[in-house]
Amino acid sequence: MYNRRMRGLEHPGRPIYERIKNLQPKCPLCGIGRVRQVDHHLPKSRYPYLAVAPVNLVPVCGDCNFVKLDQIPASKEEQTLHPYFDNVEDERWLRAEFLIHKPDNGDAGTVDWQVRFFVDPPDVWDPQLGARIIHHFNVFHLAEVYEAQVADELDTLGFMLETVFDGGGCEDVRAHLLDVAHQRTRPRQNNWMTALYEALAASDWYCSGGFTLVAAG
Ligand SMILES: [Zn+2]
Repeated sequence: MYNRRMRGLEHPGRPIYERIKNLQPKCPLCGIGRVRQVDHHLPKSRYPYLAVAPVNLVPVCGDCNFVKLDQIPASKEEQTLHPYFDNVEDERWLRAEFLIHKPDNGDAGTVDWQVRFFVDPPDVWDPQLGARIIHHFNVFHLAEVYEAQVADELDTLGFMLETVFDGGGCEDVRAHLLDVAHQRTRPRQNNWMTALYEALAASDWYCSGGFTLVAAG
């Protein structure tokens, strides 16, 4: 039914396929990629009766569809988030930390840095939901997906922060970063930019001039 009556350009079910694909431009599973196809939340190989059920069809980017494959959850904790039913934006759960490694010889120009994204489920949540988000985060390799976005962002940001620093030093830089983090909480608060900017604001090294080394490196 799905392959012969819905997916092809001339198929009678194609308008429904298109409507689902066009629900939103960005992939709801990673928040980064552009939607390019429709995925079966529960794989049609195992659940053929859900092959054309609209609630089982989710717009996704190519990368998320590729890594998910036909995974079948064996428990509730192994269910990835369903964008139609799982509202996980009431609380903050995506965080990041900015890590630096200073060389033993004290050469400040060769500091290594890294931004690490991770899930920090709120205490008020059912542990099962926290486990699901961690599973979702791992299945779609979201730490790596977000880390891949960071370098370009920090390049541009570094040069902009020089002006802020010249005006009011470290504390102005920190305040600016927190301001951007807050602005980025829309439309959803658990996005990599908010986590990144908060992590940068928490780093004394970054706020007091490290931003120039990061941008140059
Ligand atoms: Zn995606």
